[in-house]
Amino acid sequence: MSRLLIKNGRVIDPSQKLDRITNLLIEDGRIVGLDVPGDSGAECIDATGKIVSPGLIDMHVHLREPGREEDETIATGTASALAGGFTSIACIPNTEPPIDTQGTVEFIHHQAARADNCNVYVVACVSKNREGKELAELGQLVKAGAVAFSDDGAPVFDAELMRRAFEYCLMFDKPILNHCEVRELTRGAVMHEGTVSMVLGLAGMPSAAEDVMTSRDIALAAATGGRIHIMHVSTSGSVDLIRRAKTRGVRVTTEVCPHHFTLTDECLRSFDSNYKMSPPLRSQQDVDACIAGLQDGTIDVICTDHAPHALEKKMRELDQAPFGIVGLETCLPLVVTQLIQPGILDWPTAIEKLTINPARILGIPKGTLQVGADADVTIIDPDVEWTLDPQKMRSLSKNTPFGGWKLRGAADTVIVGGRVKFKRAV
Ligand SMILES: [Zn+2]
Ligand SMILES: [Zn+2]
Repeated sequence: MSRLLIKNGRVIDPSQKLDRITNLLIEDGRIVGLDVPGDSGAECIDATGKIVSPGLIDMHVHLREPGREEDETIATGTASALAGGFTSIACIPNTEPPIDTQGTVEFIHHQAARADNCNVYVVACVSKNREGKELAELGQLVKAGAVAFSDDGAPVFDAELMRRAFEYCLMFDKPILNHCEVRELTRGAVMHEGTVSMVLGLAGMPSAAEDVMTSRDIALAAATGGRIHIMHVSTSGSVDLIRRAKTRGVRVTTEVCPHHFTLTDECLRSFDSNYKMSPPLRSQQDVDACIAGLQDGTIDVICTDHAPHALEKKMRELDQAPFGIVGLETCLPLVVTQLIQPGILDWPTAIEKLTINPARILGIPKGTLQVGADADVTIIDPDVEWTLDPQKMRSLSKNTPFGGWKLRGAADTVIVGGRVKFKRAV
């Protein structure tokens, strides 16, 4: 029998409304209980001055394998997740080939088991080959273990296909995760459409491109009773639409990425492609709306949209470079630095959006320290100050705009299924 006692940490578990300094005991990979005396003969981790959280969950990660192993593999992506404090991630199916068959879902599970880092849940395609023409075999994919559906990388643009996907998913109570972007409005665009894009002479993506599809998806979810999860919300308009839909009882949830509550389109003045992502960095008003949405609960989840691209691709001219940045190793410190330190969110609210909320949306038995739960635990150092060196990241790709940033907070020890999988070097 293996026993591990985490001593004297501030245990925060929003799933049980728990926040107090105590001991947490793990036995044979499961949570046994709190308030266990310090001398129970188990192996000990001293968590004095640290936060003991349910293992963090990132429900929006691009692992790139199969097909683009030069950008990331399941082994490197999950190592990066651990270093960022994540014990479970959900991978998005825009791989090559896309995850639209039972065989591909099984391949991901197999590679994740071989890597033996964090837990990997699979989000499978809504449409066959992500073409947006024909529904994938959703029932078969659920059987293989898919936890949700998405064509991310691209939106589900056909409204009729989306409606049928909602109806079909009612059978399994699975959410559809949509990248909301009306492509007719964003052709050739590289950044947010606004004053800055005008000054720089760059083609912009109007906020309406996101808002129109958010609105459509809310309407279709309301009409069918289906569950829509709006991915990487970035506009004040969409936050507002989601807020109002929730009050009407529509089954809508949403997520925001750290870059969308931290940076604005002003960053593009540098022409650095590490500021190019989709949806794009928006205006300060949009950043403020995302922050308000986090505060009032409109935004359920903080996720990364971890999108690794090899250096030679990302170094191209702004209009040629691919969209997206890596995020697994900067998410938690940005939450601490940008949200907790300034008093925008308290620790329990932030942890809720990184644990139990994504677990509930995906319907996975994670994100809690309840007795009997899998012992996935993230011990967070809330005060450590450090400077991000992209070359030291575990991710195979280094495309981050946060290189050189002074950050606060980091994952100190990461435990998956009772086993210590990551320990921060001091
Ligand atoms: Zn997307
Ligand atoms: Zn994405």
